[in-house]
Amino acid sequence: CGIVGIVGNQPVAERLVDALKRLEYRGYDSAGVATIDNGVMERRRAEGKLFNLEKKLDGEPLPGTIGIAHTRWATHGVPNETNAHPHFVDGVAVVHNGIIENFSELKDELIADGAVFSTQTDTEVVAQLIAKYRRQGLDNRAAMLAMLNQVTGAYALVVMFADDPDTIMAARFGPPLAVGFGKGEMFLGSDAIALAPFTNEIAYLVDGDCAILHRNGAEIIDFAGNPVERPHQISQATA
Ligand code: GLU
Repeated sequence: CGIVGIVGNQPVAERLVDALKRLEYRGYDSAGVATIDNGVMERRRAEGKLFNLEKKLDGEPLPGTIGIAHTRWATHGVPNETNAHPHFVDGVAVVHNGIIENFSELKDELIADGAVFSTQTDTEVVAQLIAKYRRQGLDNRAAMLAMLNQVTGAYALVVMFADDPDTIMAARFGPPLAVGFGKGEMFLGSDAIALAPFTNEIAYLVDGDCAILHRNGAEIIDFAGNPVERPHQISQATA
């Protein structure tokens, strides 16, 4: 129910969790965070309050200057650690707010194709689809767009790739998603309040936008891959 992502130039795990705390008002039943460090993508997830996730991170810290994080309000699949986001499939990590309406048809097709699902969520089809398109030879960006042209429903999606520690991709159709502009760092969040400790310079995605974030900026395209411009705003949210 809350999403944060950082393509940073300093460690991100603690900052991601702090930003999730700023989204706690939305409610949630579980939480998780993933980072990439030295080519290795890893995650920690926990049922219940963010305190439980923080305890895990204390015991097993996640280094890395790029990461994504999520608080989940379960719609499909019980609230447990297995179903908590981020979902990992073949080096693709996904967090999602909302509902993928056609997940069960997509899941049937993917299973017929040989995919093995490890969760009961609607969200996992997003990671499975991107992984499938990558196996077919598409690059990460083309695989992301191919996935976006398959799924229907309501979503704020943030995606990270183990083989690209310099990029986070995001898409919006329904739930809000804000891009935050920092100094040599870029941010994504469900709202400007989550990002206020990092930056007040925000651009809101609109439905049908896909954002590709690097450390020094963001490219926004539609689901056909055409560039679009979104105005920068100075948010009044306070840290
Ligand atoms: N539908 C997804 C799930 O149940 C995402 C729920 C949310 O918005 O947190 O895992």
